[in-house]
Amino acid sequence: MGVRVEITFYGVRGSTPCAGESTRRYGGNTACVVVRAPDADPILLDLGTGLRYFGEEHPVGMPLHAHALVTHLHWDHVQGLPFCRPLLCAGSSLSVYGPAHEGVGFDDGFDALMRPPFFPVTRAQLPGEISFHTLTPGVHDVAGAKVTALEVPHTDTTFGYRIERDGRSVAYISDHQQSADGRSIAPAVLDLCEGVDVLIHDAQFTPEEFAVKSNWGHCTIEYAVHVAAVAGVGRLVLFHHDPSHADDTLDRLLVGARALPSAAGLEIVAAHEGLTLALS
Ligand SMILES: [Zn+2]
Ligand SMILES: [Zn+2]
Repeated sequence: MGVRVEITFYGVRGSTPCAGESTRRYGGNTACVVVRAPDADPILLDLGTGLRYFGEEHPVGMPLHAHALVTHLHWDHVQGLPFCRPLLCAGSSLSVYGPAHEGVGFDDGFDALMRPPFFPVTRAQLPGEISFHTLTPGVHDVAGAKVTALEVPHTDTTFGYRIERDGRSVAYISDHQQSADGRSIAPAVLDLCEGVDVLIHDAQFTPEEFAVKSNWGHCTIEYAVHVAAVAGVGRLVLFHHDPSHADDTLDRLLVGARALPSAAGLEIVAAHEGLTLALS
């Protein structure tokens, strides 16, 4: 019996935030997931607008010490960074890791994104100590966890992550371009997902939507279930919901996913803000 590892979802949307009554139950913030274990700094998966709500939960006046694994620099994965309250107080620290893109380091890529006139302050001007690290594909030690980072198919250079700690494992494939045949799976994706307790996976499109957006860097829910079944995961969490999918639509898509033949024996949930999964 290992220690308790918890995963909490603060932002579950892909592409762009979507506020409003129709998305109230699942939530409209973009990608931000936090992995917590006793006696270890939390590991954040992406820094989308959900990060602000993670920050709001943190006790006022107490410094935050955390690590963040960023899949790539698309807006929906980084936009929350300047709005995380604990990072606006001196004494906090955040180590942020992500891939280089076309020869540009992760830190330089982020600097290009966060500076006037696009945003009034640079990351260096935030009071907390935020360090950026370009991660190479492979295995790393982050906050005492074994972290495997490998490139997964998307539109720009994008990592998927596998985190292993105390005999528990979670894989995070937030943005995944479905293969042309809809069946084959990139070897790196299978390496990341093989036998994990929980797989958090892109579930952006229905087949009808994918038919007209097949090169947008994402996949169908059916493909996410297929990846989970082939990789032999314990639980699949549908994630990176399309902003056009209202709560009732997501309810229906979840029922449909569970009814797929490839879902036999697989536990499937749809991520919503506030969802906490315990791995123990
Ligand atoms: Zn995305
Ligand atoms: Zn993306």
